[in-house]
Amino acid sequence: MKAVLILSGGVDSTTLLYKMLDNGYEVDALTFNYAQRHKKEIDCAREVAARLHVTHVIIDLCCLGLLLGDSALLGGKDVPSCHYTEEAARKTIVPNRNMIMLAVAAGYAEAHEIPEIFYAAHKNDATIYPDCRAEFVEALRPAIRLATAWHPVELQAPFVDLTKAEIVKMGLELKVPYELTWSCYKGEEKPCRSCPTCIEREEAFLINGSRDPLIEP
Ligand SMILES: [Zn+2]
Repeated sequence: MKAVLILSGGVDSTTLLYKMLDNGYEVDALTFNYAQRHKKEIDCAREVAARLHVTHVIIDLCCLGLLLGDSALLGGKDVPSCHYTEEAARKTIVPNRNMIMLAVAAGYAEAHEIPEIFYAAHKNDATIYPDCRAEFVEALRPAIRLATAWHPVELQAPFVDLTKAEIVKMGLELKVPYELTWSCYKGEEKPCRSCPTCIEREEAFLINGSRDPLIEP
């Protein structure tokens, strides 16, 4: 079984990579450089892929940084220091990011005759980002199937009904090396512990009675 995975280098997609390998998939991992402020996640994806000996392709979409507005993730607005709120979400959204990445992944999959593409959208993201919602997945799935008629490609989003805490629970069981993952939007040397994704990540570990290995005791 071959499949393509969009691997950001964060908690969710790294857990999904481990889950897919555990399920017997042979994975081609795609990581996108879209001029994100937290480029550190790309290095994390590279390191995890190398450790697992999976094919890893880094795709340069830096031009998106100029096209997609002033998201905090692209170095425009300041990264908010708070929980995910409506306002924080608006600052950190990169418009249509997942749709763009999935379109490229579907093309890659068809070119390599790989029948499935995976991404790690989950329930927490769904409340914030439209292209992480189940209805988006359900709408895009037939479109990708229609667009890849010679070697049909199926879109899979197996975490769409899971919370981040449930994903971390799965990852802890799979012994995912979370010290090799990166989430913080600020992309500095250490997690800031105050941006929305840092707060969400730390909470997900706490709910599991565990500790984020990136946080020093
Ligand atoms: Zn942070």
